[in-house]
Parts: sequence; C-alpha cells; structure tokens
Amino acid sequence: MKAPGSVCVYCGSSSRVADSYKEAAHALGAGLAERGIRVVYGGGRVGLMGILADAALAAGGQVVGIIPEHIQSLEVEHIGLTELHVVDSMHTRKRMMVDRSDAFLVLPGGLGTLDETFEVLTWRQLRLHDKPIVVVNVDGYWDPLVTLVDRMTDAGFCRPENRGLFTVVDSVADVWDALARQPEPAVPPATGRL
Ligand code: AMP
Repeated sequence: MKAPGSVCVYCGSSSRVADSYKEAAHALGAGLAERGIRVVYGGGRVGLMGILADAALAAGGQVVGIIPEHIQSLEVEHIGLTELHVVDSMHTRKRMMVDRSDAFLVLPGGLGTLDETFEVLTWRQLRLHDKPIVVVNVDGYWDPLVTLVDRMTDAGFCRPENRGLFTVVDSVADVWDALARQPEPAVPPATGRL
C-alpha cells in the first residue's frame, strides 16, 4: 500500500510490564513520527499507550487521542496531544479510531487490546473495511493468538483465507516493510455500517 497518513495503534494501558514491551512502544511511536505518519490511539497517558504517544510527540509527530468520558479518570487523558476527542462511549471511540486510520498496528496489551484487535479483524472479515492489520509479536507475546486462530481454522470455525486478515511481524523494525507490502484496500470504507 502507499504510505499511510494515519495509523491506529492498539496497546496495553498497564505499566507493570517488561521493559522490552515499553521499548517497543517507544520505538513504534518514534518510528511513526519520523515517517510522518499520524498516530491514532486511545488517548490515555498510562502504560504503553502513554509511552507510544510521548515518543511520537517527542519526535515531532502528530498524535490523535480518542477517549470515552467515563474512563478519562482511569486512563488519565494525555493533555499534550495534537488532538484529543472525548467521546460518549467505548463504541464511539472504537468506530472513530477505525474511521480515522489507514492501517492498524497491534502491540502487546491486555483484554482491551484484544477486544479492539478482534473487532477490527471481524469487521475486516465482514468486509466492513479492508485496511491492513499488523500484529507486532514482541518477544513472541502474541504466539498464543496465532495458535488460537490456527486452531479455529483447523477446526473449521475460521475460513483458511481469513488467516490472511492479519500479518504478524517479530519486531517494530519489521513493521515498515510489512505495511509497504500490503495491497491497497479492495473494499471502500463503509463508515455508516460500522
Ligand atoms: P488493555 O489492553 O486492557 O490495557 O486496554 C487497552 C485499551 O483498550 C484501553 O484504552 C481500554 O480502554 C481499551 N478497550 C477497548 N475496548 C475495551 C473493552 N471492551 N474492554 C476493556 N478495555 C477496552
């Protein structure tokens, strides 16, 4: 695909994680900014989310945060962002994050990250969008996810062609080639149906 203007990053809100994950969030934020790619994310300043946003801003990048009103106090909105949207619900947040992005990158994270990742995967499966989804498998963190999807496919719950809904890379350094190798989206965005 041609260089994306905006990329949505899903990642954990926890800080109680290994340094390798924090370093990946930092490298990704800086790498996106250096390439002139706008970061779209959940708007918090905690955990990997905060590290990603800080690194992108420090490298002169643009960062758009989208946070629901009711979790502003939990995830503490980042006040230095290029744009911060405070929205009415998780659903509005997730739809806006998809609408405003040309591709999705998944760093290690918890239940929220998994929820967001499966939502963009299933929306792509339903052809509601056709934007690339790249899973950054830092230290093999997402190996169980890949195993689960393979198991679903072997058992007949997932069509073999749907294994191609996402691409897995081993590190942030591999993200850029992986994005460049993605085909242009074949399905026009169906904003009204998300
Ligand atoms: P986590 O991976 O649990 O640390 O969460 C990362 C981000 O996902 C946070 O900004 C959460 O608010 C967000 N998130 C999105 N959807 C959900 C959901 N259904 N449940 C929990 N968190 C969610």
